[in-house]
Amino acid sequence: MRVSGVNIFAYNNCKAEKPVITSVYSNPFISVPIIGHDTFEHSPSFTANPIHTHGQFRFLTKEHDIHCFYCKKLMLYGGTLQELLESGVFSGPIKDFVEAVRPYRKRMKKGQRTVFDQIERYSKKSPQTHLSEIIQYLYQNSIRRLVKTQSGILKDLNEQSKALPSEDMRTSFRKFMRKQHKRLYEIPDYEEFNAEKFSYKIDKMIQSIPNDELKAYLTKITTPMAEPEFLERNTIIPYELASQMTKSKLGKLHTAEEFSEYVIMRVQKIAERLGRQDMVRLCETSKDMIHNKKVTIPFSNKEFMLELVKEQLAGIKKTPLYYEMMHTANKLPNSTSSKNSFVVKHRYSDSDTIGYKLLEPAIATVEHVKARSDGGVDDLTNIVLACKADNNERGSMPQYLYMERWNKRNPQIYFNDIMKISKEEQLITPSDIEGMARSVLNEGKVKVDTSGLKK
Ligand SMILES: [Zn+2]
Repeated sequence: MRVSGVNIFAYNNCKAEKPVITSVYSNPFISVPIIGHDTFEHSPSFTANPIHTHGQFRFLTKEHDIHCFYCKKLMLYGGTLQELLESGVFSGPIKDFVEAVRPYRKRMKKGQRTVFDQIERYSKKSPQTHLSEIIQYLYQNSIRRLVKTQSGILKDLNEQSKALPSEDMRTSFRKFMRKQHKRLYEIPDYEEFNAEKFSYKIDKMIQSIPNDELKAYLTKITTPMAEPEFLERNTIIPYELASQMTKSKLGKLHTAEEFSEYVIMRVQKIAERLGRQDMVRLCETSKDMIHNKKVTIPFSNKEFMLELVKEQLAGIKKTPLYYEMMHTANKLPNSTSSKNSFVVKHRYSDSDTIGYKLLEPAIATVEHVKARSDGGVDDLTNIVLACKADNNERGSMPQYLYMERWNKRNPQIYFNDIMKISKEEQLITPSDIEGMARSVLNEGKVKVDTSGLKK
């Protein structure tokens, strides 16, 4: 589907095979929504008609300045990021990287922008350096500062946990914290292999491979590992599922564990060929887990929050103690808020990944005003555009709750952009915009002024 030489769905296609992240990751605070599924795609032409697919809606951000519905930062068209990746500019000398990416600096999140500024300073001193070298250079300093912040927050949580209502809860919490402490200080420990987590982590790494075919292949063999068949290590993987993943003729049936190891081996071979240290490490660690060896797992904000909410604090939901502890836990730095966190997270990443991850949070995504999981319809009147970072962060939280952390005037800025496009190019119908405004009033409890449509 080509429009004026640009494949507007190229980006969707590569996203269409995103793994279905099930239960474990559908937590209201840190869920990973499935984005980029163009469920009502059927238009053969773009310019002649008003938009009616997700892809077309996001495509507007390629040529128009559209501010994010929540954070009012300008968004980046996903295809533009893909083009930058494929151009090789991320893996080249930083002087070229800085020049190509500087126009998008303002769209970056705080953590990423600080990293970018530092890279820009380096590019003046040593223009031929590569992104991954700078991250490695910054690592020692960043890890020291990050661990200091993190351990302070964990200490506060430990203190607060003494008020947990039962001995069982307190014991479980202490055990949880011991594990987190080991992760923070990189002390090896026994960890159970979880195929779904592997599938999720590898998918995030795959995104920055500048080769569509390889990306599609890796997605194909690793996505099914999030299926329930992989939950128990001794489950026999059905023949259909196994052959769909590998295509090769398997002599016998395999257990989930055997099959996982087989897939991990294949991924590792490719990762080694690509020189992707991050992927190789994940494969090595996963194999060690399968073989019941001690492994070093880095502290992960996301996993920490997930277990905290889903397991440790599940029994005290909505109590004052719950909010108090969540408030403390939410202070943990993450890669969109903190430079140190970004640097530590990308210690083993290659330059392509680092460049990609600096810009990825700014990508324009389709945001359902009323969450799909809440019964929201997949219809233009229930959709706004928001940056990927905010979309992920909201997860399936009700919109009015998520709006509490943003300036209530930001949605108007977004609507002004959309109304301008509607008036100048008739790409969105006024009735759709009125519908969007109604949804935002109902779900987000924010009133936007659409009288500009008639002026
Ligand atoms: Zn945003």
